[in-house]
Amino acid sequence: MAPWQGGRKWVLPVCPWNPEHRNRSAYVVQFPSGAIAAGCHHNSCQGKGWPELRDVVEPGWRDRTSEGRKRQKATAGENRDEEPQGGRGSAGDRGVAYALKAGVDLFHDQHGEAFISYQNDAGRREVWPLKSKAASEFIRWSFYRREEKGLSGDALATARGTLAAKARFQGARRELSLRVARVDDVLWY
Ligand SMILES: [Zn+2]
Repeated sequence: MAPWQGGRKWVLPVCPWNPEHRNRSAYVVQFPSGAIAAGCHHNSCQGKGWPELRDVVEPGWRDRTSEGRKRQKATAGENRDEEPQGGRGSAGDRGVAYALKAGVDLFHDQHGEAFISYQNDAGRREVWPLKSKAASEFIRWSFYRREEKGLSGDALATARGTLAAKARFQGARRELSLRVARVDDVLWY
């Protein structure tokens, strides 16, 4: 267990969905809000998350009770589509919250450059410098998905600045080569 973006992260020695994944690719993270997400960086484990992990360790949990079914929805929502609590904060702050709830990983490299890593809509994990156009588009898209409206340039700059600060001061330091990074024996692209 290790501190992770203000929450906690557990790296699983063996992937719960494919026992051949033993290179520390599978993880469970708990966000500062208490929400839990899980996943594995292998392509064949795309779409696996906390509900699917519960399927492995707690078979039948989805059907056991109506409460369980409600929890299923709530848990899935915490990973992706849950509305913010009351939509509080400035647009920039909400942009940060939506990006974080999308399961991003924030870190910095050996030169102090801030990076964001996220799963794109095709299910592939991407890593971009926070100052890049791609990172801005991801933040804009995260915001639009929740509020169906655009983020102003000022709010985008605020959100990007906050995420960059988190990447520098809370995120891990990782040695990066130009396009591909090797972290914990997992290739990130
Ligand atoms: Zn896996």
